[in-house]
Amino acid sequence: MRDPNIPDNEQERLRALYQLDVLDTEPEQSFERITALAKSLFDVPSVLISLIDSERQWFKSKVGFDASETERKVSFCAYAVGDGKTLVVKDACSSERFKNHPAVATHGVRFYAGALITIAPDLHLGTLCLFDSKPHEFSEQQQQWLESLAEIVSDELQLRYELQNRVAEQQLFAEGPVAVVIWDAQPDWRVLYAAKNIDDILGYSVEHVRRPEFNYLSCVYHDDRALVRESLRQLSTGERDHWEIDYRILTQAGELRWVRQVCRADHNSKGEVIRIRGYLLEQTQRKQLEMLVQDSNERFALALDAGELSTWDWDLTSGQIQYSDRWHQLLGLDQDNSSPYVRDWRERVHPADKDILEQAMTNHFSGNTAKIDVRFRLRHDAGHWVWMHSVGKLVERDATGKPKRLVGTHRDITEQVENEIERNRQQRILDLLSAIQNEFLLAKDFAKAGTHLLDVLLGVSGSEFGLVGEFPGNSRQRDLLLVHGLRLSSETTDATEGYQQLVQQGLEVTIGCEILQQVAVRGETLIENEHLATTESSLSPLDLPDFETIMAMPIVFNREVVGVTLLANSEEGYRREQLAMLKPVMDALGTMIYTRRVEEQRAEAQEELKRMATTDELTGVANRRTFLHQCRSHIEQFERYQQPVTLILIDLDHFKKVNDNYGHGAGDKVLQSFTDRTLAQLREVDLLGRLGGEEFAVLLPHTTEADAQVVAERIRKALADDPVIVGSDSIAVTMSAGLAEYSVADSSPDKWLARADEALYQAKAAGRNSIVVAPQKR
Ligand code: GH3
Ligand code: MG
Ligand code: MG
Repeated sequence: MRDPNIPDNEQERLRALYQLDVLDTEPEQSFERITALAKSLFDVPSVLISLIDSERQWFKSKVGFDASETERKVSFCAYAVGDGKTLVVKDACSSERFKNHPAVATHGVRFYAGALITIAPDLHLGTLCLFDSKPHEFSEQQQQWLESLAEIVSDELQLRYELQNRVAEQQLFAEGPVAVVIWDAQPDWRVLYAAKNIDDILGYSVEHVRRPEFNYLSCVYHDDRALVRESLRQLSTGERDHWEIDYRILTQAGELRWVRQVCRADHNSKGEVIRIRGYLLEQTQRKQLEMLVQDSNERFALALDAGELSTWDWDLTSGQIQYSDRWHQLLGLDQDNSSPYVRDWRERVHPADKDILEQAMTNHFSGNTAKIDVRFRLRHDAGHWVWMHSVGKLVERDATGKPKRLVGTHRDITEQVENEIERNRQQRILDLLSAIQNEFLLAKDFAKAGTHLLDVLLGVSGSEFGLVGEFPGNSRQRDLLLVHGLRLSSETTDATEGYQQLVQQGLEVTIGCEILQQVAVRGETLIENEHLATTESSLSPLDLPDFETIMAMPIVFNREVVGVTLLANSEEGYRREQLAMLKPVMDALGTMIYTRRVEEQRAEAQEELKRMATTDELTGVANRRTFLHQCRSHIEQFERYQQPVTLILIDLDHFKKVNDNYGHGAGDKVLQSFTDRTLAQLREVDLLGRLGGEEFAVLLPHTTEADAQVVAERIRKALADDPVIVGSDSIAVTMSAGLAEYSVADSSPDKWLARADEALYQAKAAGRNSIVVAPQKR
C-alpha cells in the first residue's frame, strides 16, 4: 500500500499550522460542539478533528477515540490532505487502496469519511472525519453536510490564523496613531476585535468597544452614520473590497472628532467576505484646517459672487484640480469641456512667471512659508494675459509626507496690475523727464542722456532696440540723423560702451528706410506691427537686427521736426495708446534739442562779438584796447610779484611806399604776413597787438630787457630775411623797434609805451631795420 501523498506546499502548510499555535492545546468548546453534532448527524461512533503534523496527526477534538494522536503514516486523513479533496471509504475491506491499511487491522476501521479543513486556498491543515468499525453508505448530501461542518472548523481556525498573522501588525499599530478595528461582516457589524489604542481615537475604552452588545454605529456622529453604514454594507456584500472614508465620532465625553477610516474586506477560502477590517486615524486637526479654508472660502462667497474670486482644490496625487465656476469665466473657458488637469492650466502660465510660481510652491511645500501667495499671468482663451493673485495652502500630506492636497483661491487682478504698471510707467516717465532735462541742459552730455532715455523707453515699451536722433539743424537733408542714443536690450556691456563711444564721437546714420523719412517729413508717428523688409530698416553704417515691429515718433518743436525716436521689436507690438505716455517725452526732447540749438547759436554769437571786440579785424591779433588792457594787468602783476615784463614797439619802415608801389591790398597782405611771422617767434604767454596802421607791439611777460632783445632781433630777422610774396610781387619789408622793460618809475602803460616809442624813434633815426633799447628811468 502506498504512503499518503505529501502536498506540494507542505512547508507552507506546516508553517501555517505552527503559526496557529493549536497543536497540543486543550479542547475548546467551539470544536467539541462540532464533533458532537457530527456524531449524531451521521450516526457514527467516532468523529475527529485531525490536524496533520509532519510525522503525526493530532486531534484537536475527538469523539469515540482514545488516543490524542497517531502516526501520519497510518492516518486516513493524511490521504485526504495529500490528495487535496474529501475522502470517503465506505468499506475499507473491499477497497483495493485501503484493505491493507494498518488502521484497518489495528483499529478495525471499515468506514471513513474526511472533509478538508482549509484556511486558505490549497492550505489544508487536516480533516473533520468520521469513522466506524462497520461499513457505511454515504450519500452526496451527507458528504456536503460534512464539508459544511469542516468549513466551520476552517473558519474558526482561519480567524485565529489571521489574528495570529496580524499580531505583529497590531503590535505595530498599538502604540501608533492608527487603531485597528475588525467587524463581523454580517449582519450588524459586531466588533470582533478592537486594538488597545482605540480609546485614543474613539474616546471609548477598549473594553467598552469589545463588549458583545456594543454597536459601533452608536459612536458615529448621527449625520455620518448613513455613510459609515453604506461603506460597511458595500464591503460586506463585496460590491467594494476597500474604502476610505472620513467621518465624525461622537466620543463618550460628547466631543466631535474627525476620523479617517481605511477599511477592507477579509475573505475566506471561498472568496466570501467574512470580516471587515478598519484602520482608523484621527483627522480632527487636518479636517479643521480644511474646514478653516472652506470657511474662509465661504467668507469669500460674496467676492465670488461679485466675480472676483475663484476657488480651487488640487489633488497632487492625481494631478486633478477642481475649480469654482468663476474660474472658467476668468479664462474664457467652456466649463463642460475644460480639463481637470493641473498640467493644462500650467501651460497657460506666462513664461516669465513660471519660475516665480514654482518657487512659491517649493517654498510652501518645504514648510518655509505658511501659504502660497503669488501673482502671475495666465493666458486667456482669447490669447491675452490675465493677472491672477493666487493664495493657497497645503491641507494634506500622504503617509510619506509628500504634499497631497492644496486648496486656495484665485483672484483676477488684471485691472489692478495694469493700473499699477501704468502708474509705474508714468512715474518712470516723469522721473525720466527730469533726468534728461538735467543731462541734456545742464550736463550737456547728449550720449549719456540718450542712453538713459532709451533705457527707460525700452523698459516701458518692451522694445529690443531704440534710437534717438536729431536732424542736423543746418541741413535740409531728412535722411541724415545725428545719433544721441542707441540701445539694444540684448547687447553686452562691451557693446553698450562701444555704442556710447560712437555716439559721443558724433555718430551719424543714413536712414535707408522710406517710412522713417516720412516720419521726418510729415511729423507723424508711425506704428508698424507687421514684418518689415530688411532694406526698410537699414540705418547705415549700423549693423542692426531686422525690425519686426516698429514705432517711430517725430521729435517736434514749433512745428519743425527736429529729430526722431525709434523703438523696435517689442514682442507685443506697439499701440497708439502708448503715445499718450510717450508724447510728453518727445515734446520735452523737442524743446531740449531746440533750446540747445539756440544756446549753441547764442554762444557762437557771443564768441564772435567777443572776438570782434578784442581783436584786430585784418590780422586777428589783439587790438589796441585789448593790448593796453593787458599791459595794465601786467603792471599790476609786476607790482605784486616783481616779475620782469618787457614791451617791444614795432613800426614797419617806409610802409607808405609799399602801399604806393604795390597797392593797399598788397599792403594789407604784408601786414598779415608780418603778424604771422611774428607770432611764430612768440610763446603762448606773449601777446602781439596792433596799435594802429603799421604799428604793432609785443608784450613779453617774465622777460627781461636782455631776453626781449633776442626775441626782437628774431622778429626783425624773420621779416627782413625773406620778402613777402604777394601774387607775382616780392615785397621786401623791414621794421624798426623800440624796447622797454617795465620799471616802477613808469607807473602807467602810457609812460611805459612812451619810453618804448622814444627808443623806436631813435631806431628810425639810426637808419631803420634796427632795434633800440630804451634806457631805464631813474
Ligand atoms: P616810416 O615809418 O619808415 O617813417 O615811413 P612810413 O611810410 O611807414 O611812415 P607813415 O607813418 O607816414 O606812413 C604810414 C603809412 O601806412 C600810411 C598809411 O597809408 C599806411 N597804412 C596805415 N594803415 C594801413 C592799413 O591798414 N593798410 C595799408 N595798406 N596801409 C596802411
Ligand atoms: Mg612806418
Ligand atoms: Mg607808422
